[in-house]
Amino acid sequence: MEIFKTAPELQAFALAAKRSGRTIALVPTMGFLHAGHASLIDIARRKAEIVIVSIFVNPTQFGPTEDLDKYPRDFEHDRILCLEHGVDVIYAPEPDAMYAPDASTWVEETKLSRPLCGAKRPIHFRGVTTVVAKLFNLALPDYAVFGMKDAQQLFVIRRMVRDLNFPVEIIAAPLVREKSGLALSSRNRYLSEDEKQRALVLSRTLEAAKPAIEQTGLGAIPAIIEAMRVEIEKAGGKVDYIEALDAATLEPPTDATVDVLLALAVYFGTTRLIDNTLIWVKR
Ligand code: AMP
Repeated sequence: MEIFKTAPELQAFALAAKRSGRTIALVPTMGFLHAGHASLIDIARRKAEIVIVSIFVNPTQFGPTEDLDKYPRDFEHDRILCLEHGVDVIYAPEPDAMYAPDASTWVEETKLSRPLCGAKRPIHFRGVTTVVAKLFNLALPDYAVFGMKDAQQLFVIRRMVRDLNFPVEIIAAPLVREKSGLALSSRNRYLSEDEKQRALVLSRTLEAAKPAIEQTGLGAIPAIIEAMRVEIEKAGGKVDYIEALDAATLEPPTDATVDVLLALAVYFGTTRLIDNTLIWVKR
């Protein structure tokens, strides 16, 4: 397994691999890897001859009051997980290796990035699309794997790839949970044991909402969201948002809606957790 720390090293490697006809799959991450990330790597491993994992806590997607500095990092743990899952290359640049000090170009998706987390974290998705576009230009992947844990991010990246004609196939990986139901996340590290127990209300209420909306239809959504809010607040969570949107447009559902994305962001203490579920609307 190779470890590259600069952009030219990665790009030269990827160019040589492409010229020799080999396929590349990229898994972009911010590190502190867990079984959710590993499932993406395993999907990438089955898809392509070369698997590249990027580990980069991207400063441009963090707002000024967010957790950039305290975001958990453990490169040695990440290196071993990558080795065990057959990764060929880790790309782990320092911020200066990714952004020129006077960088002035952004890639911005302007529709799907607006609601949900986009409304609460205004510069977040612009940072995500910019860094992912840069990673695509450096790693030259045939495939890139993104998790449904960050469903909105996945949809925004898909749209960017379509709109800008990136020659890469985006693969969606299922959301991986602990046995308890808690969605795996590097940010779970911030939770106390008590907060972790309380946070189980998120997956529990999402799970309960699913059959309720499936069986009762779109009309049931407002009451179900209200009931979720009450239960989450009772468990000590501070709701940032709970919303049900058309999964194709990320707009409010209409008669044409086939899939609903029920998504939430909730604080436990100072830790902001996100979770979601996709619901197929029967007619
Ligand atoms: P992150 O390191 O949190 O930026 O995540 C990197 C990638 O891993 C993103 O595509 C995430 O959606 C994905 N990911 C993170 N947690 C999970 C999870 N629990 N299940 C599936 N994918 C995940």
